[in-house]
Amino acid sequence: MNQKFCDIIRAKYENIEILMDEPMSKHTTFKVGGPADMLVSPAVNEIADLIKTAGELQIPVTVIGNGSNLLVGDKGIRGLVIELGKGASDITVEGNRVKVSAGALLSKVANVAAAKGLGGMEFAAGIPGSFGGAVVMNAGAYGGEMKDIIESVDVLTSSGEVKTLSVDELDLSYRHSCVPEQGYIVLGGVLKLMDRPEEEIRATMAELRDKRVDKQPLEFASAGSTFKRPEGYFAGKLIQDAGLRGYSVGDAQVSEKHCGFVINRGNATASQILELISDVQRKVKEEFGVQLETEVKMIGEF
Ligand code: FAD
Repeated sequence: MNQKFCDIIRAKYENIEILMDEPMSKHTTFKVGGPADMLVSPAVNEIADLIKTAGELQIPVTVIGNGSNLLVGDKGIRGLVIELGKGASDITVEGNRVKVSAGALLSKVANVAAAKGLGGMEFAAGIPGSFGGAVVMNAGAYGGEMKDIIESVDVLTSSGEVKTLSVDELDLSYRHSCVPEQGYIVLGGVLKLMDRPEEEIRATMAELRDKRVDKQPLEFASAGSTFKRPEGYFAGKLIQDAGLRGYSVGDAQVSEKHCGFVINRGNATASQILELISDVQRKVKEEFGVQLETEVKMIGEF
């Protein structure tokens, strides 16, 4: 079926590149994950056709952005991975609205906005995700979240229709949107920003960058905060108080710099990271009765 899929797609889109048995470790900030049977990084206008064709051949489809919130299993991902990145990364500014394609990186969008004197997304400049991934996760930091700046989002529904959703319809809350449960794919959207002098925007972005460098283990591969913030607690503090700072399974480790981050010190496998995550969850539950939920999404075969 995979060969048939490739033949159909290559016949229609001459320049499309379909990578076979592509290591997902190359597409995730954790730098782990086995091979995807097929991986393609399409333009926005190719997405619907890829999904329809895969559906007709009963090939499962997984959509990812910049892979910065993912733990992909060591056995990889069966079927087709659609990576929304460079090929789908247009950014256009009209007045105080910024139209963004799903694959555009938040850092890039924030820089384009800053250059036009548009503030409001300074909080997002250091989040290493794509616009699509940030909508799905309602990504946020330092008191800001995507919910504050999104005006509307275009999604592809599971029946192949393109729909424009208002920010309210996205049902955004802490690290939650309706996108996964509805089976939508984010194609792009519109941000509504506000006028602010560029120097001020740049100064805020630099200040937040310094805070990240100071507090987060950015020198190691990770997927950011591994756990969601439990109501009334901080995950990192619970993990530290449970005596797990620096706790390791192979090269997977609870960061010594920030206990809320699980890091890959070099050669960790997804299974080791998963084992470490479940050890941390068990220990924190035993010590404090708090169930830590992962913010990181697990996909593929472990
Ligand atoms: P991915 O990791 O590729 O995917 C995340 C989820 O979204 C998956 O379920 C995927 O299937 C789905 N998805 C992705 N794109 C689409 C699409 N177009 N349509 C439908 N589904 C899609 N997060 C924060 O919120 N705040 C932070 O401050 C923060 N700091 C971080 C720091 C570091 C060093 C790292 C590594 C990560 C950090 N993160 C943070 C986590 C991560 O960057 C965010 O969750 C980001 O929004 C994920 O975007 P992505 O494009 O990488 O998505």
